Amino acid sequence: MSRLPVAERGTVRRALRDLIGRHRRAVGVVLALHAAAAVAGLAPPWLLGTIVDRVTGGTDVATVDRLALVIGGCVLVSALLSRYAQYAGHRFGERAVAELREEFVHRTLGLPVSVVERAGAGDLATRSSVDVSTVGTTVRDVVPTIVIASVQLALLFGAVFLLHPLLGLAALAGLPSIWAVTRWYLRRASSAYLIEGAASAELTETLTTTAEGARTVEALRLADDRIRHGTTRIAGVWRARRATLALRTVFFTVVEASYPLPIALVLLVGGALLSREMVSLGAVVAAALYLQQAIDPLDRLLQWTEQAQRGFASFARVLGVGLVPPEPPGTVATSRGERLVVREARFSYAGGHDVLHGIDLEVRPGERLAIVGPSGAGKSTLARLLAGIDAPRRGVVSIGGCPVTDLDPAERRRRIALVTQEHHVFIGSVRDNLAFAAPDASDEQMRSALATVGADWYAELPDGLDTPLGDGARQLAAAEAQQLALARLLLADPHTLILDEATAALDPTTARRTERALAAVLVGRTVIAIAHRLNTAHDADRVAVLADGRITEIGSHDELVAAGGAYSALWHSWHRHGDERPLSRKEQPS
Ligand code: ADP
Repeated sequence: MSRLPVAERGTVRRALRDLIGRHRRAVGVVLALHAAAAVAGLAPPWLLGTIVDRVTGGTDVATVDRLALVIGGCVLVSALLSRYAQYAGHRFGERAVAELREEFVHRTLGLPVSVVERAGAGDLATRSSVDVSTVGTTVRDVVPTIVIASVQLALLFGAVFLLHPLLGLAALAGLPSIWAVTRWYLRRASSAYLIEGAASAELTETLTTTAEGARTVEALRLADDRIRHGTTRIAGVWRARRATLALRTVFFTVVEASYPLPIALVLLVGGALLSREMVSLGAVVAAALYLQQAIDPLDRLLQWTEQAQRGFASFARVLGVGLVPPEPPGTVATSRGERLVVREARFSYAGGHDVLHGIDLEVRPGERLAIVGPSGAGKSTLARLLAGIDAPRRGVVSIGGCPVTDLDPAERRRRIALVTQEHHVFIGSVRDNLAFAAPDASDEQMRSALATVGADWYAELPDGLDTPLGDGARQLAAAEAQQLALARLLLADPHTLILDEATAALDPTTARRTERALAAVLVGRTVIAIAHRLNTAHDADRVAVLADGRITEIGSHDELVAAGGAYSALWHSWHRHGDERPLSRKEQPS
């Protein structure tokens, strides 16, 4: 399994800059509003300081009342501005997240099928759910919180500097310990938490397997062994938790202890300055209040920094999807005719040995070719090469003289279709489900395609083509879903069909109905069918027997039966039973 790539730090930074650049105005408005709110928030401590100074200088109650009223006004204005700032912030966040999601969907749809298959569905699923929403929260909540907290801190400390530069320096002197311990913590935290997560997952895994296999454990007297396993895992979790706890105890203790430090220093320095009459008592009070106010944004900043790091990592994984080279655009013009030719094709799955050892095959336009062979012989692999999903390691698979993997992907899908057991019904109307195969198809064509594949359930739909399908709406049975897929195929109108296990999983009655529908789709097309029932092979123009990645016999049904080889033996054995059951493993020719 090869995972999808992850973007470099530089790429993530560039993407973030681009994102902000695209929303320059919105970001500007948000910042301006927050800054204004923070400035309005600066007034009360300063006014309080002024009150202190006036009172020490001797003033009347009316002045104090007036100043107190102004303080109230400032608090109100600051609250209002903050409210609008948050509103604007969320609007920007939601827009940006919507854009990111759209880009992600676009990138994902552009991924070559084989890359997705190799990476495994889990990787892409995690990125599209967990990572995209982590990036969403980061952009919407975390980044604004951090930016706002930073702006507030800058203003608060700036204000202390304005009161007196020496007070400002004293305030700053309290910060290095916070900065140092935060760096120390962040360096260690992410790996420690990853280890803790992994240890918990291992413990759960061990406990569930023991519980699920309880009978086996008892029967084979494995109890002691399992208990030992469990104990080791619990010890692992204990160690991991202790490690993260140790980090937290250091971090939070140092940070909590550091918060009062700037205030204490300002009071000390302020006292010294006051005795030399270099500052007023009011200024010292205001400075202390500013620093008291700074605790809240400082706290938020520290809390969210880790979250921001997690968001950064998720963003790198989301952007990584875009780093996969898209399917090459290919050349359209060079393919003439529809003759499918396989020459000396060899193929191996990533890192494995060859599973196809030099396949030679020619399929005439309009021909029906059945491929039979034991499971693991390479039938599905050959079907993937023919459909151009994978390219052969050696040799060539070409259509009309042009390698299928060189065809433009859209063009290729228009001409060759691989039909498998997977027949997905997309959430949407019947029309939506049909239209993406043929966007220009008229309603009449859609209805006629459904009729051709025998989808008689269509007549009962309340809203015809507009009836919604899928979860919470009309659910289609397996056979109905397959008919829908076949109607889609009719509309897409490819000239070559590759059928891989198209009806193998259905029960015999359903399979017969589906086969009738399929027969209607096959008319006038080149068909390569991986045969699971020998009557499919019997009805084909030619049969190819695949064993161990090689074609061992090829010819018409009658020729092969007359030749008396593996196929002939299989046919006689199967015929004697006179039924239509799929070939069992034992009966597959080898
Ligand atoms: P068939 O369709 O005849 O059952 P396949 O083409 O599925 O055979 O498989 C041929 C060989 O390739 C088997 O040995 C199988 O284990 C291997 N194989 C199939 N798919 C993969 C894959 N995705 N990765 C690695 N090996 C695979």
